[in-house]
Amino acid sequence: MEKLIYTFDEGRSGNKELLGGKGANLAEMTHLGLPVPEGFTITTECCMNYLADASFFEKQLKAEVLKAIQNLESETGKSFTSTENILLVSVRSGAVFSMPGMMDTILNLGLNDHRVQDFAKLTNVNFAYDCYRRLLQMFGDVVYGIHKEQFNVLLHQMEKRLNKKVTDFNEAEHVELIESYKNLFSKNKVAFPQDPMEQLFEATKAVFKSWNNQRAKVYRDLHNIPHHLGTAVNVQSMVFGNSGEESGTGVVFTRNPSVGDNKLFGEFLINAQGEDVVAGIRTPEPIESLQTILPEAYNDFIKHSHKLEQHYKDMQDIEFTIENGKLYILQTRNGKRTAKATLKIVLDLAAEGLISKEEAIMRVSPEVIDQLIHPVFDTEKLTAVDAFATGLPASPGAATGSIVFTADKAKEYTALGKKVILVRQETSPEDIEGMVVSEAIVTSRGGMTSHAAVVARGMGTCCVTGCEALTVNESAKTVLCGNHTLTEGDMISVDGSTGSLYLGEIPTIVPENDQSLQQLLTWADECAELKVRANAETLQDLQTAIDFGATGIGLARTEHMFFGEERVLEMRRLILAKDEEEVQAALNKLLSFQQEDFYQMLKTVQDKPMVIRLLDPPMHEFLPHDANEIKSLADQLNRYPSAVEKQIEKLQETNPMLGHRGCRLGITEPLIYQMQVKAIFNSAIQLAKEGLTICPEIMVPLISEKAELDYVKSFLTETIEATFKEHQMEPFPYEIGTMIELPRACIIADQLAENADFFSFGTNDLTQMTFGFSRDDIGKFINTYKEKQIMQQDPFQVLDQSGVGELIKLAVDKARQTKENMMIGICGEVGGNTESIAFFQQIGIDYVSCSPYRIPAARLAVAQAVLK
Ligand code: PEP
Ligand code: MG
Repeated sequence: MEKLIYTFDEGRSGNKELLGGKGANLAEMTHLGLPVPEGFTITTECCMNYLADASFFEKQLKAEVLKAIQNLESETGKSFTSTENILLVSVRSGAVFSMPGMMDTILNLGLNDHRVQDFAKLTNVNFAYDCYRRLLQMFGDVVYGIHKEQFNVLLHQMEKRLNKKVTDFNEAEHVELIESYKNLFSKNKVAFPQDPMEQLFEATKAVFKSWNNQRAKVYRDLHNIPHHLGTAVNVQSMVFGNSGEESGTGVVFTRNPSVGDNKLFGEFLINAQGEDVVAGIRTPEPIESLQTILPEAYNDFIKHSHKLEQHYKDMQDIEFTIENGKLYILQTRNGKRTAKATLKIVLDLAAEGLISKEEAIMRVSPEVIDQLIHPVFDTEKLTAVDAFATGLPASPGAATGSIVFTADKAKEYTALGKKVILVRQETSPEDIEGMVVSEAIVTSRGGMTSHAAVVARGMGTCCVTGCEALTVNESAKTVLCGNHTLTEGDMISVDGSTGSLYLGEIPTIVPENDQSLQQLLTWADECAELKVRANAETLQDLQTAIDFGATGIGLARTEHMFFGEERVLEMRRLILAKDEEEVQAALNKLLSFQQEDFYQMLKTVQDKPMVIRLLDPPMHEFLPHDANEIKSLADQLNRYPSAVEKQIEKLQETNPMLGHRGCRLGITEPLIYQMQVKAIFNSAIQLAKEGLTICPEIMVPLISEKAELDYVKSFLTETIEATFKEHQMEPFPYEIGTMIELPRACIIADQLAENADFFSFGTNDLTQMTFGFSRDDIGKFINTYKEKQIMQQDPFQVLDQSGVGELIKLAVDKARQTKENMMIGICGEVGGNTESIAFFQQIGIDYVSCSPYRIPAARLAVAQAVLK
């Protein structure tokens, strides 16, 4: 039989899959000689076995848990069942990937009506009953689903009736409170088990089951964590942060998780248990204050936290407890952090020599880069308004939206297309679905390590916590702040970097280039093999792409240049022309527009390559469809509306995506492509005369047959040569290549390569044509496909490697048989996707091209593709 349970001194950090992150780290810390309370870990495999067949617990696991407890008793010299030398344990979940607060924990297991009295003799009445009360509450909530708030109601009722705090109760009053808690169990037709072993068994099963609770599932979906991993269960002897004024508990990051500064960042509470810090019910003190309150424990903490950071070579998120002046480390893990902090920390760790440049590159996920180019408030607009409240800057970013007070409302509003800000006293893991859809999260209570803060930072969502000036009334749907009363639906703006809240809407802008980002991307460029180009055609997009480090333009879609009011009219005139003369007049106009465009575009990109794709969409996309527009076009063209309408009707197609588009248009209406290349070369020649070195790359779309390419290329070449002659210019180099967007083009790539200077895979069309999925309609079924596990991902966003990817690979191999060094790029949407980029690296693509804002992330992804 495989081993079901490991003591902390048996495991190591390499056993993460079996012991979960927390269990593996407890084992590792024990190994490092840190003061970790003794305990054992029940493996993730046990969880999955139990979830598959509940009888596994009785048949196999139970006896092992019993043995492990006996072992723990002899290790600690305490007893879990007798009334002497009382051992209490905590039971905590611990998955392979950290899922903060998503699963369950129960503390103080082992207390019952008798043992609590003996425990009170060992410690004191208040403390012992405080522990017992918390156990009943957590056990009721986790094992029997009795909401913890119901216990709080009983507590507050009694405090009110006796007019004193629970900490001032005498023994009889404590017993009365416990009885009322037990009655709550009875009302729910269950009983709190008095046998400590029974408590442990039930708690273990409940933690296993919490792997499959709704919020854990949502969290896993959100973070792409597989559902089959299961959670380990860590059983650990309790140490008590709530045993007096020389005790306490805290959570500390070894570096600042918001901005990355190399300075301890965290908080603690004296005389409290761990959940008090995370739940945000009492507002904790900053960690620095511990130095004056409990200096010895503080110094030990500094020593141990340094050791942990050096050992794990990363910023740690450490939970500790101090029991009567002695420090214990309960948990360490690589700390969650903002995008900004991620970058600062890896660069600092590299500068400190703890990690290499390559490790620094591998440690940053390309999604993090996306967060760094998030919007911030327009500072000019911001100076004109005053904050109405300020809290803690828990997660940076700027957002505007309507206030909602519950997760359900957040979902309801966003389903209607509205942006929301979730405002609550504090969040709890049940709120996860609402938090995911919110633009920002604001809480009136809680610190920088509260649930809201940790989860928002992980998601890159703007968040302000501990905004104590707010009185949030979730049931009345109001929030009071000074003289302001805000209600559901009111607009506010939230600055997660400063903690400020503003009334109304404030415009946002994209942040300045970040120096750390530049540094990391420079390192990335040094080891990358694939180049990153941009898909862009407007001057602004071209400039953004260059500023973000694009090495060239992989796709300039020329149809986007025909949509301005003046231009579309000429396009319509051309399409609907009655005679040669009208055709020529329209073409001349379009030529002058395009010429100016290309001149500016080529001048912007200078000596960088730019692939210009000739017109691609079917003609009717340029024509009006509603009666008013048709009438006004008819007026402009001096025609009868009915005549125009007839012409438009004639141009309609049954399957336009499979119809008269791409090179098919070029072949039936060569004048348009001729006009386009003439415009390109008129401007290129002009720029060459001005001293620029230019090598235009012309791309023909939607080729499926070599003869198509031969035909188009021959008339394009004629036009280009004539243009050089016209300008009395010695021809300079240029290239004519093709898009590969059809399965047939992949199969005959060797033939196409004979007459193409380069290839660029249009994976949008190639995916559409390979699956037979309309790229514009996939939204109608892809979610159902994902839910039913027919497909894991949308193939238009992440390359389908086994189908479309195989076609691309085949085409690359065939093309290189014909032309060994042919330049081959990717210009569909997946060109900016990390997973797809790793595949493109493997099959020998030269560059990927994506929209400008995806360039920084793609630069990192291409480097990671090499280092992997
Ligand atoms: C493609 O098909 O992948 C492509 C880049 O072209 P478009 O999206 O313009 O059809
Ligand atoms: Mg296409």
